[in-house]
Amino acid sequence: MTGLKVALLGATGSIGTQTLDVLRQAMPWAKVTALTGNNNIKLLAKLAQEFRPGYICVPDEARQNELAGLIDFPCEILTGATGLEKCAAQTDASVVVNALVGRVGLAPTLAAINAGKHVAIANKETLVTAGAIVMPFAKKMGVCITPIDSEHSAILQCLQGNPLPAVEKIVLTASGGPFRKWDKDKIAAARQVQALKHPNWGMGPKITIDSATLMNKGLELIEAMWLYSMPVDKIEVVIHPQSIIHSMVQFTDGAMMAQMGPVDMRLPIQYALTAPDRIINDFPRLDLLACGELTFEPVDMDKFPCLALAVYAAKAGGTLPAVMNYINEWAVSQFLEEKISFYGISDIIARAFGAYTVKPAACAQDIWEAEAWADEFIKVLPKSQKT
Ligand code: NDP
Ligand code: MG
Repeated sequence: MTGLKVALLGATGSIGTQTLDVLRQAMPWAKVTALTGNNNIKLLAKLAQEFRPGYICVPDEARQNELAGLIDFPCEILTGATGLEKCAAQTDASVVVNALVGRVGLAPTLAAINAGKHVAIANKETLVTAGAIVMPFAKKMGVCITPIDSEHSAILQCLQGNPLPAVEKIVLTASGGPFRKWDKDKIAAARQVQALKHPNWGMGPKITIDSATLMNKGLELIEAMWLYSMPVDKIEVVIHPQSIIHSMVQFTDGAMMAQMGPVDMRLPIQYALTAPDRIINDFPRLDLLACGELTFEPVDMDKFPCLALAVYAAKAGGTLPAVMNYINEWAVSQFLEEKISFYGISDIIARAFGAYTVKPAACAQDIWEAEAWADEFIKVLPKSQKT
């Protein structure tokens, strides 16, 4: 572990900056070989000055020039999608942390696997869109994919020492988001600022909106299917407003294991880098007496149709999750710009499901074609239906 060399994609985001905090505080011996960012070039430059990677990636030439003017050490500044893939595949990294947001995360994950790198994955959209391609490819290449998402990390921790065939079901916990107690009419009128107020977690804007619609839990359900080879009917979602139990596994003898911890992504990030080993850190500990009651509720699928749509896509399989993910990403960006309503997100996804013929997802090309279909669907959707 002392030879850990990290290529960090999405360094300037919520998971990216927390990953660097883990390295700073718990693994000061680790080397950072690559850092990537998108719009936040000042922060990327600051992080680069501190960690001195050999490769940095930015989206375009303008930002390449901007970054070059802000750093004073030698490194290769790459651009665009090919730059991201090079950062993922470059020879000196032992692990690629994929903390990118959205579908842009898939191609570098495939590049990392192709180069035989261990992938610690926060970018849930990778497995949602292309789990059927990514998981067999990782197996073929002998590459380990470890989850960063707290729920999947909890499952991984519960599974230690227990064989997968002994799993009866997985229970994913969900905070319920900011609208858990709101009625449907009030949710229908919800504004972007209200949806961005997550009760427990501070995260990037896309996942925060996904958490408010519960699409996030749908994406996590599909991610769990692929990570743990679990059929959708063996994965249950339960609302747990305190976010202390990060998820659970029930075994065939009736035993249920839960992983608990403070609301802090640094533990799952660290575990993704060290699993199954554990290393000492000084992050906050869970204070059981301060936790108060731990409660559980069923999900109201009528109030949160995005979860029902994700379950539908998970069951249909093939290219439907990729179409759902693409439309969701677009719809979330529209909601963030206040161009569509909260339920506009699920309405547009449901419309796309009605119009799409599901195809098998056998290779990355099938995913790109499904996304191209979704892109065209959005373009020709009448303005009156984009609300
Ligand atoms: P953020 O929006 O905070 O960060 C995203 C990162 O990706 C930033 O570095 C951003 O750059 C970069 N980025 C965005 N768009 C592009 C693009 N088109 N090309 C290249 N880079 C891009 O997201 P989060 O950290 O919250 O989430 C990252 C992933 O982790 C998501 O898939 C999310 O679902 C998952 N996740 C997040 C959790 C959290 O606590 N945040 C918890 C569990 C999972 P820049 O900032 O410079 O523009
Ligand atoms: Mg999660």
